[in-house]
Amino acid sequence: MLGDEAIDVDWLVVAAGLGSTPLTTQLAKSIDVRPVLGQALQLKLANPLGHREFQPVITGDDIHLVPIGDGEYWVGATVEFPNQMGEVIAQAELLEKVRQDAIAFCPALADATIIRTWSGVRPRPEGIAAPIIGHLEGYNNVLLATGHYRNGVLLAPATALAIREIIL
Ligand SMILES: Cc1cc2nc3c(=O)[nH]c(=O)nc-3n(C[C@H](O)[C@H](O)[C@H](O)COP(=O)(O)OP(=O)(O)OC[C@H]3O[C@@H](n4cnc5c(N)ncnc54)[C@H](O)[C@@H]3O)c2cc1C
Repeated sequence: MLGDEAIDVDWLVVAAGLGSTPLTTQLAKSIDVRPVLGQALQLKLANPLGHREFQPVITGDDIHLVPIGDGEYWVGATVEFPNQMGEVIAQAELLEKVRQDAIAFCPALADATIIRTWSGVRPRPEGIAAPIIGHLEGYNNVLLATGHYRNGVLLAPATALAIREIIL
Protein backbone atom coordinates (compact mmCIF):
# COMPACT_ATOMS: atom_id res chain seq x y z
CA MET A 1 0.00 0.00 0.00
CA LEU A 2 1.16 3.55 -0.72
CA GLY A 3 -1.09 5.60 1.51
CA ASP A 4 -4.55 4.35 0.56
CA GLU A 5 -3.45 3.13 -2.86
CA ALA A 6 -2.62 -0.54 -3.52
CA ILE A 7 0.16 -1.06 -6.08
CA ASP A 8 0.98 -4.35 -7.84
CA VAL A 9 4.69 -5.20 -7.60
CA ASP A 10 6.86 -8.17 -8.57
CA TRP A 11 9.17 -7.67 -5.60
CA LEU A 12 9.03 -5.61 -2.44
CA VAL A 13 12.30 -4.64 -0.75
CA VAL A 14 11.88 -3.32 2.79
CA ALA A 15 14.80 -0.94 3.41
CA ALA A 16 13.13 1.38 5.87
CA GLY A 17 15.49 1.27 8.87
CA LEU A 18 13.40 1.71 11.98
CA GLY A 19 10.31 1.92 9.77
CA SER A 20 10.87 -1.75 8.90
CA THR A 21 9.13 -2.84 12.12
CA PRO A 22 5.74 -1.19 11.44
CA LEU A 23 5.94 -2.18 7.75
CA THR A 24 6.57 -5.86 8.49
CA THR A 25 3.96 -5.78 11.24
CA GLN A 26 1.46 -4.92 8.48
CA LEU A 27 2.67 -8.10 6.72
CA ALA A 28 2.04 -10.12 9.92
CA LYS A 29 5.76 -11.06 10.23
CA SER A 30 7.12 -8.31 12.40
CA ILE A 31 10.87 -7.90 12.58
CA ASP A 32 12.08 -6.09 15.68
CA VAL A 33 14.42 -3.19 14.81
CA ARG A 34 15.22 -0.78 17.65
CA PRO A 35 16.89 2.64 17.79
CA VAL A 36 20.41 3.15 19.14
CA LEU A 37 21.21 6.85 19.39
CA GLY A 38 24.52 8.34 18.28
CA GLN A 39 25.69 11.88 18.97
CA ALA A 40 28.66 13.54 17.31
CA LEU A 41 30.50 16.88 17.43
CA GLN A 42 31.85 19.14 14.72
CA LEU A 43 34.99 20.86 16.01
CA LYS A 44 37.06 23.68 14.54
CA LEU A 45 40.74 24.30 15.18
CA ALA A 46 42.67 27.44 14.32
CA ASN A 47 45.13 25.21 12.42
CA PRO A 48 44.64 21.70 11.01
CA LEU A 49 46.08 18.80 13.01
CA GLY A 50 49.41 17.40 11.86
CA HIS A 51 50.32 17.84 8.22
CA ARG A 52 48.01 20.11 6.24
CA GLU A 53 48.40 17.85 3.15
CA PHE A 54 47.81 14.56 5.00
CA GLN A 55 44.59 14.49 6.98
CA PRO A 56 43.58 10.86 7.56
CA VAL A 57 40.60 9.58 9.53
CA ILE A 58 41.93 8.66 12.97
CA THR A 59 40.30 6.02 15.17
CA GLY A 60 41.08 5.17 18.78
CA ASP A 61 38.99 3.50 21.50
CA ASP A 62 35.99 3.44 19.13
CA ILE A 63 36.19 7.22 18.73
CA HIS A 64 36.47 8.46 15.15
CA LEU A 65 38.06 11.74 14.14
CA VAL A 66 37.04 12.65 10.59
CA PRO A 67 38.68 15.64 8.86
CA ILE A 68 36.28 17.67 6.70
CA GLY A 69 38.68 20.47 5.71
CA ASP A 70 39.39 24.00 6.85
CA GLY A 71 40.58 22.81 10.27
CA GLU A 72 37.20 21.20 10.98
CA TYR A 73 36.65 17.66 12.23
CA TRP A 74 33.72 15.41 13.05
CA VAL A 75 34.23 13.51 16.31
CA GLY A 76 31.89 10.69 17.25
CA ALA A 77 29.96 8.93 18.22
CA THR A 78 28.08 7.93 21.33
CA VAL A 79 26.26 4.58 21.47
CA GLU A 80 23.06 5.06 23.51
CA PHE A 81 20.50 2.29 23.94
CA PRO A 82 16.76 2.83 24.59
CA ASN A 83 15.54 2.98 28.21
CA GLN A 84 12.98 0.57 29.66
CA MET A 85 10.20 2.64 28.09
CA GLY A 86 11.81 2.14 24.67
CA GLU A 87 12.79 5.84 24.47
CA VAL A 88 16.20 7.08 23.37
CA ILE A 89 17.12 10.36 25.03
CA ALA A 90 20.43 12.02 24.15
CA GLN A 91 22.71 12.27 27.19
CA ALA A 92 24.97 15.33 27.16
CA GLU A 93 27.50 13.69 29.48
CA LEU A 94 28.08 10.86 26.99
CA LEU A 95 28.86 13.34 24.23
CA GLU A 96 31.26 15.14 26.57
CA LYS A 97 32.93 11.77 27.31
CA VAL A 98 33.45 11.26 23.55
CA ARG A 99 35.10 14.70 23.42
CA GLN A 100 37.32 13.94 26.40
CA ASP A 101 38.28 10.52 25.00
CA ALA A 102 39.21 12.19 21.71
CA ILE A 103 41.33 14.77 23.57
CA ALA A 104 43.06 11.90 25.41
CA PHE A 105 44.53 10.57 22.16
CA CYS A 106 44.67 13.91 20.35
CA PRO A 107 45.44 16.62 22.97
CA ALA A 108 45.30 19.50 20.42
CA LEU A 109 41.51 19.04 20.32
CA ALA A 110 41.30 20.60 23.79
CA ASP A 111 41.63 24.01 22.06
CA ALA A 112 38.96 23.29 19.45
CA THR A 113 35.65 25.16 19.30
CA ILE A 114 32.45 23.12 19.12
CA ILE A 115 30.63 24.52 16.10
CA ARG A 116 27.86 21.93 15.79
CA THR A 117 26.45 18.85 17.43
CA TRP A 118 24.43 16.18 15.63
CA SER A 119 22.57 13.04 16.54
CA GLY A 120 20.86 10.22 14.71
CA VAL A 121 19.42 6.81 15.44
CA ARG A 122 20.91 3.58 14.16
CA PRO A 123 18.51 0.73 13.27
CA ARG A 124 19.61 -2.27 15.37
CA PRO A 125 17.89 -5.66 15.00
CA GLU A 126 16.88 -7.08 18.38
CA GLY A 127 18.00 -10.63 19.11
CA ILE A 128 19.68 -11.32 15.77
CA ALA A 129 22.89 -10.20 14.12
CA ALA A 130 22.93 -7.04 12.00
CA PRO A 131 22.17 -6.55 9.14
CA ILE A 132 19.01 -8.40 8.04
CA ILE A 133 19.26 -9.27 4.35
CA GLY A 134 17.06 -11.87 2.67
CA HIS A 135 13.47 -13.04 2.40
CA LEU A 136 10.84 -12.07 4.93
CA GLU A 137 9.70 -15.39 6.35
CA GLY A 138 6.57 -16.67 4.62
CA TYR A 139 6.94 -14.50 1.52
CA ASN A 140 8.81 -15.36 -1.67
CA ASN A 141 8.75 -11.81 -3.10
CA VAL A 142 9.33 -9.68 0.00
CA LEU A 143 12.99 -8.95 0.79
CA LEU A 144 14.55 -7.31 3.82
CA ALA A 145 17.56 -5.02 3.44
CA THR A 146 17.59 -3.41 6.82
CA GLY A 147 18.89 -3.36 10.39
CA HIS A 148 22.41 -2.26 9.46
CA TYR A 149 22.97 -0.73 12.89
CA ARG A 150 26.43 0.91 12.91
CA ASN A 151 27.52 -0.03 9.38
CA GLY A 152 24.76 0.98 6.99
CA VAL A 153 26.90 3.41 5.02
CA LEU A 154 29.79 0.95 4.72
CA LEU A 155 27.52 -1.95 3.76
CA ALA A 156 25.17 -0.16 1.35
CA PRO A 157 26.95 -1.31 -1.86
CA ALA A 158 27.28 -4.92 -0.64
CA THR A 159 23.64 -4.91 0.44
CA ALA A 160 22.53 -3.70 -2.97
CA LEU A 161 24.56 -6.46 -4.66
CA ALA A 162 23.14 -9.12 -2.33
CA ILE A 163 19.56 -8.00 -3.01
CA ARG A 164 20.24 -7.86 -6.76
CA GLU A 165 21.63 -11.40 -6.60
CA ILE A 166 18.48 -12.72 -4.89
CA ILE A 167 16.16 -10.98 -7.37
CA LEU A 168 18.11 -12.20 -10.41
C1 LIG B 1 26.07 8.86 14.87
C2 LIG B 1 26.06 7.81 13.80
C3 LIG B 1 27.24 7.43 13.22
C4 LIG B 1 27.25 6.47 12.23
N1 LIG B 1 28.45 6.14 11.67
C5 LIG B 1 28.49 5.22 10.69
C6 LIG B 1 29.71 4.90 10.04
O1 LIG B 1 30.77 5.47 10.34
N2 LIG B 1 29.69 3.96 9.07
C7 LIG B 1 28.56 3.32 8.70
O2 LIG B 1 28.62 2.46 7.82
N3 LIG B 1 27.38 3.58 9.29
C8 LIG B 1 27.31 4.52 10.28
N4 LIG B 1 26.14 4.80 10.90
C9 LIG B 1 24.98 3.93 10.68
C10 LIG B 1 24.23 4.27 9.44
O3 LIG B 1 23.86 5.62 9.44
C11 LIG B 1 22.98 3.37 9.38
O4 LIG B 1 23.37 2.01 9.46
C12 LIG B 1 22.28 3.59 8.06
O5 LIG B 1 21.74 4.90 8.04
C13 LIG B 1 21.16 2.61 7.84
O6 LIG B 1 20.68 2.86 6.54
P1 LIG B 1 19.24 2.41 6.09
O7 LIG B 1 19.03 3.01 4.73
O8 LIG B 1 19.07 0.95 6.29
O9 LIG B 1 18.24 3.11 7.15
P2 LIG B 1 17.96 4.64 7.39
O10 LIG B 1 19.14 5.49 7.10
O11 LIG B 1 17.32 4.70 8.74
O12 LIG B 1 16.88 4.99 6.25
C14 LIG B 1 15.58 4.45 6.27
C15 LIG B 1 14.70 5.35 5.44
O13 LIG B 1 13.42 4.73 5.31
C16 LIG B 1 12.43 5.75 5.45
N5 LIG B 1 11.17 5.11 5.88
C17 LIG B 1 10.85 4.63 7.10
N6 LIG B 1 9.59 4.13 7.08
C18 LIG B 1 9.12 4.28 5.82
C19 LIG B 1 7.89 3.98 5.17
N7 LIG B 1 6.87 3.39 5.82
N8 LIG B 1 7.73 4.28 3.88
C20 LIG B 1 8.75 4.88 3.19
N9 LIG B 1 9.96 5.20 3.76
C21 LIG B 1 10.13 4.91 5.04
C22 LIG B 1 13.01 6.69 6.49
O14 LIG B 1 12.39 7.95 6.39
C23 LIG B 1 14.47 6.72 6.07
O15 LIG B 1 14.68 7.70 5.09
C24 LIG B 1 26.07 5.81 11.86
C25 LIG B 1 24.85 6.22 12.42
C26 LIG B 1 24.85 7.21 13.39
C27 LIG B 1 23.54 7.63 13.98
